[in-house]
Amino acid sequence: MDTHRVPLVRPSLGESEAEAAARVVRSGWVTQGPEVAAFEAEFARAVGAEHAVAVANCTVALELALRTLGVGPGDEVATVSHSFVATANAVVATGARPVFADVDDDTLGMDAARLELALTPRTRAILCVHQLGIPCDLEGILAVATRRGLPVVEDAACAIGSEVRWQGRWERIGRPHGRVACFSLHPRKVVTTGDGGVLTTSDAELAHRFRLLRQHAMTVPDTVRHHSDRVFFEAYLEPAHNYRLTDLQAAVGRPQLARLDAIIEERRALAAVYHEALARSSVLAPPRELPWARCNWQSYPARLRDGSGPGQVAVMQHLLDRGIASKRGVSNAHQEPAYREGRRWTCGPTPCGVGHAAGHCARLPRSERLRDTTLLLPLFHGMTADEQQAVLAAVAALEPGVRRSS
Ligand SMILES: *Cc1c(COP(=O)(O)O)cnc(C)c1O
Repeated sequence: MDTHRVPLVRPSLGESEAEAAARVVRSGWVTQGPEVAAFEAEFARAVGAEHAVAVANCTVALELALRTLGVGPGDEVATVSHSFVATANAVVATGARPVFADVDDDTLGMDAARLELALTPRTRAILCVHQLGIPCDLEGILAVATRRGLPVVEDAACAIGSEVRWQGRWERIGRPHGRVACFSLHPRKVVTTGDGGVLTTSDAELAHRFRLLRQHAMTVPDTVRHHSDRVFFEAYLEPAHNYRLTDLQAAVGRPQLARLDAIIEERRALAAVYHEALARSSVLAPPRELPWARCNWQSYPARLRDGSGPGQVAVMQHLLDRGIASKRGVSNAHQEPAYREGRRWTCGPTPCGVGHAAGHCARLPRSERLRDTTLLLPLFHGMTADEQQAVLAAVAALEPGVRRSS
């Protein structure tokens, strides 16, 4: 029995991050202040955006983006069920109802043709997802959005450093290509501050609204008041919320942004080793990277090949028995207990007719199949060659001949 343990993810935080946190502690200014401002400028530069606004996490970033674009009670947002449940939850938090479209087998993101079927007279926005950092079909989705006059919010929670081919050039996700992109800084993502989120946009007015609404719509940030030598009073312009990121968190993110290119390069090299090995596996198939996409491989989704091989649970148990962590494919909101209540969501202007209460929708066959035929393998920057070899050995031991003799 192998005593080797390979986790799915290990956050890569070192001395620079520890020193950054200590610097903030010693400075005496620990919440949203100069470190958040510097982090925002560096984040904007890293993804090629004009404006970046930091908040407490990506879930509130999505909610804030949707609300600022006018989404509220009685509205619908066309999105995907095949995502971390935060995507659907952000829609519900605005008071609107998600309308789920099915996804594409390669991008795991919204299928532009399916999106058309999810649009209704109540649709107020489109929320697409760059799932696991794999760019979704922005070109197709934006074509539909433009035709219908709908704003697009990109759930880019996992996608920092991923790129798309856009008008002849490679551009990072987050420019953004829609109206707003929202990133996560959770430890499962490529850059982490413990928790955190960032909204990017090219619209100065939107960026201004995000800054206002993340801090109780207060007219003057406390950094400004703190440094003023004249007495004045701030005003609170409308009911809002506290979605602040802290300076402690932002400082920890800065060294990671500074080495982002190397992080992405390392992850792509690890993915290339998996691609090559899985191309030879009779049990697992590698994900396909489309010619217009360059993925940061926030996660590595292997696919069970069709046929009579061992099933998802058997493969995961086989890996676990050899000390290798893995995870089931991306979940579907409509199959979670929270969304069993059929009125919380729908699948189009005239629903498919399946009751939905049983966690099944006739319009989402790919979403449902992908969850049960995909397997996330360990991939993280800082992963050693030995660790990856341990995963590959366990995968090789899935081959029928080897299985019989072991
Ligand atoms: C992680 C994730 C989120 C939520 O991010 P938080 O920062 O944890 O709120 C949203 N959408 C997707 C696709 C995610 O993977």
